[in-house]
Amino acid sequence: MDLSRFPRTALGVWPTPLEDCARLSDVLGGPRILAKRDDVNGLGVGGNKLRKLEFLLGAALADGADTVITFGGLQTNHGRQTAAACARLGLRCELVLTRRVTAAAGSGGLVAPREGEAYERSGNVALDVLYGAHVHFCEDDAETAAVYTRISERAAAEGRSAVTLPVGGSTAVGALGYVAATAELKAQLSEVDRIVCASGSAGTAAGLALGVALLDWPVTVDAVSVSGSRSHLTGEIARLVGEAAELLGVPTPPLPHVRVTDRAVGPGYGIPTPQVWDAVRLFGRTEGITLDPVYTGKAAAALVDAVRSGEIADTETVVFLHTGGLPGLFGYAPELVEETAV
Ligand SMILES: *Cc1c(COP(=O)(O)O)cnc(C)c1O
Repeated sequence: MDLSRFPRTALGVWPTPLEDCARLSDVLGGPRILAKRDDVNGLGVGGNKLRKLEFLLGAALADGADTVITFGGLQTNHGRQTAAACARLGLRCELVLTRRVTAAAGSGGLVAPREGEAYERSGNVALDVLYGAHVHFCEDDAETAAVYTRISERAAAEGRSAVTLPVGGSTAVGALGYVAATAELKAQLSEVDRIVCASGSAGTAAGLALGVALLDWPVTVDAVSVSGSRSHLTGEIARLVGEAAELLGVPTPPLPHVRVTDRAVGPGYGIPTPQVWDAVRLFGRTEGITLDPVYTGKAAAALVDAVRSGEIADTETVVFLHTGGLPGLFGYAPELVEETAV
């Protein structure tokens, strides 16, 4: 797999550690579990978006861009990592953050996952500002669209060259970051049966799915939805795999090795369930690993459930992809304190 023809800008520290979680594996009494620590890859507190941004911003720089516009919820980790990357690269960063997001899968309703000081001003929001991003707070999708138009027009009027990245940086180019990650992981440990990851905008899971197929590596990819329904996420992963395969000039692979589950979504995006807080405590107290209540906590809750139900066999070797999200935890500070009190 040769990605060298795609422009790339160095942002993270690679390879990220692959750590045996012996105490966690013991407590669950099942498979061997390892954590692939993409949460400690360096820049801007780290996280999975850095792998995508190396390719996305590599392309933006090659195109002569000086401004990056992107989107997310108030506690977007993608926005925060984009802000940090732009600071390092000397790019202007415009973050358009939307307070109300789609709540329950398929409900069509819009709600703010949380309200209050911690969620609205701390965590990722505080870091966005620290990294010098221009942050625009919007109530809903309509306001987000209007603000985006205004920002784009102003950039053009001022003679700046802006690139727009979608939510989560999930494009075919962004997914290349996780195609590359698959090769990195295989070089660390080839005897892997399963990779479990949180999935939102689908780019991470799509990159893993395509990487595993290109390497002809007999590994199952478990994509754990944090927001949408199983069918919606399955479609998004397939779409991005197809687009990334086209970009690479390879046939779109079949995806029998990809399992999508929405068992951990609960009431919707950004709304943790009791099982999520159980998983946050479990990882914290067995491994000193910090999960977040929006992404990795849901992926871990699904992992625990699949081990306990016997869906994941005791003989398996499972890699839990830690995609980051630490600042988001502090957006839930009052709940975190309550949920972790002894
Ligand atoms: C964005 C994010 C994810 C999901 O990645 P996608 O590529 O959007 O599916 C998972 N975990 C964390 C911590 C994230 O910030």
